[in-house]
Amino acid sequence: MGDRGQLAGGHMDDPATSRGVRAEGAARVALVGAGPGAPDLITVRGRELLARANTVLYDRLISHELLGLCRPDATLINVGKHAGVHSVPQQEINRLLMEEALCVGAGGLVVRLKGGDPYVFGRGGEEASALAAADIPFEVVPGVSSAVAAPAWAGIPVTDRRFASSCTVVTGHRRADGTLDIDYDALVRTRGTLVFLMGVATMPQICAGLLAAGAAADLPAAVVERGTSASQRRIDGTLGGIAERARAVGVESPAVLVVGAVCALAPELDWYDRLPLRGTRVLVTRPADRAAGLVRALAGEGAAVEEFPCIETRPLPSAAKMLGRLRNFTWLVLTSTFGVRCLMDVIAAGPLDLRCLGHLRIAAIGSATAAALAAHRITADYVPEVYDGAHLGAGLVERTDAACDRVLIFRARDSLTDLPEALERAGVPFEDVAAYETVLAPVSPAPDLARRLAAGEFDAVTFTSASTARGFARAFPDVAPRAFTAVCLGETTRRAAAALGYRCVVSHAATIESLVERTVEAIGRERGAQGGD
Ligand code: SAH
Repeated sequence: MGDRGQLAGGHMDDPATSRGVRAEGAARVALVGAGPGAPDLITVRGRELLARANTVLYDRLISHELLGLCRPDATLINVGKHAGVHSVPQQEINRLLMEEALCVGAGGLVVRLKGGDPYVFGRGGEEASALAAADIPFEVVPGVSSAVAAPAWAGIPVTDRRFASSCTVVTGHRRADGTLDIDYDALVRTRGTLVFLMGVATMPQICAGLLAAGAAADLPAAVVERGTSASQRRIDGTLGGIAERARAVGVESPAVLVVGAVCALAPELDWYDRLPLRGTRVLVTRPADRAAGLVRALAGEGAAVEEFPCIETRPLPSAAKMLGRLRNFTWLVLTSTFGVRCLMDVIAAGPLDLRCLGHLRIAAIGSATAAALAAHRITADYVPEVYDGAHLGAGLVERTDAACDRVLIFRARDSLTDLPEALERAGVPFEDVAAYETVLAPVSPAPDLARRLAAGEFDAVTFTSASTARGFARAFPDVAPRAFTAVCLGETTRRAAAALGYRCVVSHAATIESLVERTVEAIGRERGAQGGD
């Protein structure tokens, strides 16, 4: 991913800044709303275009998760603005956008990714005008605006009809001469909800203006800071006191100021604040390509989730070699979702297709592996009730005939021996193919993370395999093992983590759902006597 970082001036000659320039050779430009902050609040269309774009110009508040959806070969240009300081002047952004459209050329796609909705402040209209003037084809993908999303996550329904029949979205941004362009009398007359964006610095002025225009000092008001993120903060108050309260607790941009009777509902309706992992911080150590489900599930319970992959899985040459001998077997056994991916990859890379599996019965160690198979329209013939090697082995013994069946185990090098031992005891012929290997990820220096772990900033670290625990211990040798709770997937993982000195709790079942449930029990707000051992 080529990130050109912060762009200053100094570009090639103005290719298309005036009307009439022929822009037939230009790529299409999409002004895409990224949503208010939480990466999964982008629209489906926005995500699709982002994944297709040749070039993406993005703002400061765009999350790295969203940028992670871009094509690996996409050019990423940060045109971010800092509060008050336009790091790239708007005219320069307009020009850059047109330049990129011409540079990418016809048939290509340039995405201009903007926070919230592109046309709710944020100057999307000016960018569209520049494109229209230059005859560059463009489309607009609306986004979820922070003007409604931040209040929604904080329990404020902006037009709840019991309290308000209108909602006015207002900019609190100063004009070049330092003044605010707000008609306070008109706003007060609406008697509806008022939402101020870009109003952190000018909050005292805004509130004074509304009071002077006759609004009641005891009108409910609220500030929602960093809405829809794990660090969201809601500050309640009244029109007369909210500015001082926001200052006292150090509110910073981005934040919205909401004024109106609807704010009184917040204590009752703030669902986000009530999530069980709200206020906790969890580190996920799975490889990045398999962490998404766990990260999303933990975030969905309100945790602030960070990732530090401690292992990597890579295929071995024996995986491809085994394909030619598949017809010698009657059963195929898969023990991880990576195993399924690896199998599909080697089939795709070779001369055969899925029919090479047609004669086999297939066993999966657990529900996740079975689901990975199902994604390829393959239904596992057998999944044990308890997701481990011993139960898988016992179940296979029951389902096979030692006289005519042959089992192929397609799994990681150095896996546990429970499964082959069970088959061996029963005399079932099998072959154990080391199809891939798990290695501890190369340790990139993460001094800040080490410091924060040592300082107890993380309530929990999740380990989904013994190797993630070992990889973590290698990456953070100086972090006291009892600085956090180690939440372990399955007993084998727990044993490995406990041997390293970590204070462990173990999931009841070997599934991501169970791991999340256990995390909630161990560190969630209803923390019982479940601190681990
Ligand atoms: N187009 C954007 C608004 C851009 S103006 C939208 O539709 O949301 C930038 C202002 O939006 C910030 O100063 C702040 O007032 C508000 N804002 C953006 N993200 C926010 C968030 N996550 N929480 C609270 N306010 C936010």
